[in-house]
Amino acid sequence: MKILKHKFVDNIPDIIEDKVLYVSMEYETVIHKCACGCGNEVVTPLSPTDWRLIFNGETISLEPSIGSWSLDCKSHYWITNNIVNWSSTYRQKEINKVRRVDSEDKYEYYKIKGKMEQPMPEEIEKGKQKQSFWRRLLSKLLR
Ligand SMILES: [Zn+2]
Repeated sequence: MKILKHKFVDNIPDIIEDKVLYVSMEYETVIHKCACGCGNEVVTPLSPTDWRLIFNGETISLEPSIGSWSLDCKSHYWITNNIVNWSSTYRQKEINKVRRVDSEDKYEYYKIKGKMEQPMPEEIEKGKQKQSFWRRLLSKLLR
C-alpha cells in the first residue's frame, strides 16, 4: 500500500518529490509523481470537468481516478485519503473509449456554459478525423 503526503503550496515547486501531492489552490491544480515510481509528473487540474479535490482536514482524495494513459506505464489508480488504490490496467481500446467520452463530456459542459468560442478539445478533432470519408473508405478497402 502506498501512502502519500500532501502539501498545500502557492506555486508548483521546481522539484516534485516522490509520494507527495502538491496542492495549489492558486493554480487550481494538484501535481504528483506517478505512483508507479516511473518518475513522471502527473498534473490533475481541478475543475468541474477535470478532478475534484476532497480535503477532510487530514487527508486528500482525488476524484475521479487518475489514468496516465499518455505515459508508458499506463498507470491507473485512485487516491483516496492519501492512499493509492490501484485499478486494473485498461487496454488501449478501452482507454480510447474513456478518452473520447471524457472529451465529449467536456464539449457538452462548455457548450452549456456558452464557452463555444473555445476551440474544441483536441480529442474530439481527432475523433472527427477518424470518421472522415477517406478514412472510412480506406478501412473498407483494407478489410
Ligand atoms: Zn508511472
